[in-house]
Amino acid sequence: MTHILVIGGGFAGATLVRQLAPYIRRDGQTPLEVTLISEESYTTYHPMLPEVVGAAIFPEHVVAPLREVAPKARFVMGRVSTIDFASRSIECDTLHGKRSFKADHLVLAFGNRARLDVIPGMAEHGHVLKTVGDAMHLRNLVLRRLAQMELEDSPRARAALGSFVVIGGGFSGVETAGALADVLASIHHYYPLAPRDQLSVTLLHDGDLLLPQLPASLGKAAATSLRARGVVVQLGTSALAIGPTTVHLRDGSILQSATTIATIGTRANPLLDAMADLPQQRGRIVCNDHCAVAGWPGVWAIGDCAQVPLPDGSYAIQTAQFAVAQANYLAKVLRGADTTAFRYRSRGMMATTGHHKGVAELFGLRLTGLPAWLLWRAYYLSQMPTLGRKFRVFVEWTWGMFFRPDITHFRFERSSERDAALPIATTMTKSNKEI
Ligand SMILES: Cc1cc2nc3c(=O)[nH]c(=O)nc-3n(C[C@H](O)[C@H](O)[C@H](O)COP(=O)(O)OP(=O)(O)OC[C@H]3O[C@@H](n4cnc5c(N)ncnc54)[C@H](O)[C@@H]3O)c2cc1C
Repeated sequence: MTHILVIGGGFAGATLVRQLAPYIRRDGQTPLEVTLISEESYTTYHPMLPEVVGAAIFPEHVVAPLREVAPKARFVMGRVSTIDFASRSIECDTLHGKRSFKADHLVLAFGNRARLDVIPGMAEHGHVLKTVGDAMHLRNLVLRRLAQMELEDSPRARAALGSFVVIGGGFSGVETAGALADVLASIHHYYPLAPRDQLSVTLLHDGDLLLPQLPASLGKAAATSLRARGVVVQLGTSALAIGPTTVHLRDGSILQSATTIATIGTRANPLLDAMADLPQQRGRIVCNDHCAVAGWPGVWAIGDCAQVPLPDGSYAIQTAQFAVAQANYLAKVLRGADTTAFRYRSRGMMATTGHHKGVAELFGLRLTGLPAWLLWRAYYLSQMPTLGRKFRVFVEWTWGMFFRPDITHFRFERSSERDAALPIATTMTKSNKEI
């Protein structure tokens, strides 16, 4: 019996387990046993998080439960706290206290984290978009800002409440700005005292072109599309500091905004801090071209946490595409079905810019506008596991093309907490503590 232990149920870990699933049997007769340990019970489809912020899709539709993805593997929801590489054993905190596991092969697929210290004030006053929780929080925050605006008399405070600033012109920044522009345009009429001309979305990017990973023509097309939607795109501008209602720019100007979303910067998973024995470079685990961790037989790393070399001397980039490709490859290596080095070329990249528009490059073909947006949706729909989930997302997207987004603002409060809660006005003014 070979036991494979996978840490992390994101794109990389979940794909690996799904690929190994046909070789696992529950009757104890199988030569393969797979255990997946992950902090959350689901894989998050990060590229779809801006759609949650823009209330275009429900949060439960951008995740896939791990027990559904790979029912034959053993799944344990837990946070791994220590790893002993020599014995390939780990310790993790679970719903039932600390548990230990030991395996023949240990696969590290625990991704990375959002960085909160890129700009002073970001951790205290800014917002990031990395988890479903972040996306739900931002969705609620948008609704909350409009409701607050209706009750605010000070013109200065109203201006800050109606202004949304997104920092970073990469994929998530562009998509978040587009999603915000869409949701504000669709829902402002429910808030008659927060008129459209007092709402704004500003996208700050320190480069000359948005989406620097794409050809320049697509970066320009993305900026044109966002501007046509009313987004203020400021290129060559970087934020120096974020305050509760301000963003200080490098040129000395100050933007009034109570809601700043920073989509820049990632940092290593804190698990790596405790792994002094492991070869690391710039917060990633150094692997050979078979995704094996140098010096530790039976230890492998894939996805965002791994630095895997490519045949041309560069390294695999931190995207879902590469994470999935590495997982597919490692599944073959672990089964002994592939002994060649890992190689993968990006199929292309795409981003939505809001209002049924997007930009895409696929196998060298460049698309803008509606065709790019349709391609984006078709691609992510195809990536969703199970037919039922694909159908639900398809219905929701179709619904969203004809009806306004849902403006229900859920506050997760139990009956037992209601009377003991702080006066509502007190909790409302704590800008970053909203539920
Ligand atoms: C907003 C956003 C938009 C993006 N858009 C795109 C895009 O359009 N195209 C693209 O290709 N890529 C995109 N990406 C990047 C892509 O999501 C990542 O490259 C991909 O998720 C990497 O997969 P992974 O499995 O390595 O890590 P993750 O998907 O982050 O998964 C890591 C897993 O490890 C678990 N974990 C972490 N620590 C522990 C621990 N101590 N114990 C147990 N489990 C742990 C986590 O819970 C998680 O399940 C985007 C990312 C973000 C944040």
